[in-house]
Amino acid sequence: MKRSISTRNIFLGIGLIAVVTLTGMNVYSLFELHETTIEAAEENKRNQIDEFANQLRYRFASPFFGLRRFDMKTVENHYLKKGTFPEKFHRQLTDAFNDPLFSDVYWSPHDLDHCMDSTLPIYRYDSENAEFKAVESVSDIVCEGIGLARSRSRALSSEYVHSYRTSFDTHRSLTVSLINLRENRVVGHITLLIDRDYLVNQIIQSQLQETFGNAEQSGVVLWLRDWMAGEVLAVSDTTYAYTGHSDQHQVRQRYTDLPDNWILNAQLLDSPAIAASDTSLFRNLIVLGTAVIALFGALIFMYITAKRERELAQRQAGFLANVTHELKTPLAAMQAAGENISDGRVADGERLKSYGTHIYNETIRLRKMIDKLLDVARIDSGQSIIQKSPQHLDQLVESWFRNHYNYVTSRGFKFHLNTEDRLPTTMVDVDHIETILSNLVDNAIKYSGIKKEIAIEVARNGKWMELRVTDRGVGISHTAQKRIFDKFYRIEDSMTARTKGHGLGLSIVRDLVHLHEGDVVVESSPGSGTTFTARIPVVSTAAPAESPAMSKPESIALPAKKKQPQAEPG
Ligand code: ADP
Repeated sequence: MKRSISTRNIFLGIGLIAVVTLTGMNVYSLFELHETTIEAAEENKRNQIDEFANQLRYRFASPFFGLRRFDMKTVENHYLKKGTFPEKFHRQLTDAFNDPLFSDVYWSPHDLDHCMDSTLPIYRYDSENAEFKAVESVSDIVCEGIGLARSRSRALSSEYVHSYRTSFDTHRSLTVSLINLRENRVVGHITLLIDRDYLVNQIIQSQLQETFGNAEQSGVVLWLRDWMAGEVLAVSDTTYAYTGHSDQHQVRQRYTDLPDNWILNAQLLDSPAIAASDTSLFRNLIVLGTAVIALFGALIFMYITAKRERELAQRQAGFLANVTHELKTPLAAMQAAGENISDGRVADGERLKSYGTHIYNETIRLRKMIDKLLDVARIDSGQSIIQKSPQHLDQLVESWFRNHYNYVTSRGFKFHLNTEDRLPTTMVDVDHIETILSNLVDNAIKYSGIKKEIAIEVARNGKWMELRVTDRGVGISHTAQKRIFDKFYRIEDSMTARTKGHGLGLSIVRDLVHLHEGDVVVESSPGSGTTFTARIPVVSTAAPAESPAMSKPESIALPAKKKQPQAEPG
């Protein structure tokens, strides 16, 4: 037996571990999926920010891509001969020259420093006539732009690969140095002054808003800052102020080759994709939680049911052994008494009477036990027949009370009956009601200690007729109350151990009350007695016709009636 208990426990343990493990794995996968979704969403935003920075680079660099196919030696010769760029070359640059991003364009046809030597020629682009015109002097910005381009080109002179190089002087100018690859030397510099306002407001600000716009939708806010001046130049969503908080530096995009004191800061917010992933995670966790609770519930339910069934089987086996023993004992006693009488060994009247009483009592015991067994067998096989007839329950109970009064009081009990007046008729099976009463009163007798008092009550409670049997006996603990109606269940205490029984009486009571579409409940507390209430539905509200014979006080405690045949309950 122990083995089967531990096997069941092991299986329950395995089941619980499996549920916990599977749940853990599922929760882990859900969180991992959630993390991956968030990471993918963030990665996507980072790519968008990268892309944005590249677009700006492209905006600056793209007008000059076509210069690669020109041989700058030819360009230089053409310029030296005619004072203008070759037409194709000029056309290539027209877009850049006319781009409002550049406020002025200068051309210095040599790799010398005009700002050091003002005799060196330098030209400014006249967009109206589409030609370069010589100027006397130029601003410092032009000089610094050319100076920077010269030093950078010179530093890389051994690595010239393309026929031009672009150099930025922060956000102020862009200088394109034209390189004669054949002779490995710079032939001149075209310096384009950057219109900062146009760049910030018309290009960056508008592109930021166009690409990222409403931060709640795009899930990202970008600020373009001049970190040296500590100034915010542009923002993708103007409702978000730049505070310098670390959150706002989640992504930092430097423009190393472009305006290098400018920096693009980005803060990643919870985008709709992340919010959707949060909701889906929450929903999945709820579904998983419910499934796990249901699974746990089912496992524990199965465990408890299996345990109950095992206990029932144990009790049934014990019951069979008991019954066999209890059937044999009275039979043996009756056999011996019968033998003695038939052999003529017992002749005198007193002894004959005592043998007769003995046989009579043993027969009663046998009958009671066989009745109970038959009741159980009938109910179990669904053969229990109920023959209802309209009855006045109070009269029925009173008649039973009168018949058993002497038996109960002879055992030292005070026995009362209380019935309400003018109770309606009820559809009941008379035999079943007697069985119910017998079992309940029999128990009240068996499980009473020194306070020997039993009361039966019949009363109406709304649509129910209630039949109550109360004793002042040992009482029943709250836990045991849940199980006393189970078949073969007996409370494991010293009182029950001392009394005879098989745990069938209350199960029979409950089944018979159920056959009447009623219910039976117990109220009890250990040490202060027990009340069993059997409720049966009222079918007629008509009061019984009052007959002088049956008219009675509300409460009766009958004196013993000598001539009345006395019966044990059951
Ligand atoms: P039994 O044959 O053991 O009396 P029952 O089904 O009638 O079987 O009762 C089940 C158990 O409930 C009993 O073993 C007893 O422990 C408890 N019980 C029943 N009636 C009472 C009562 N009136 N007072 C205290 N305990 C009771």
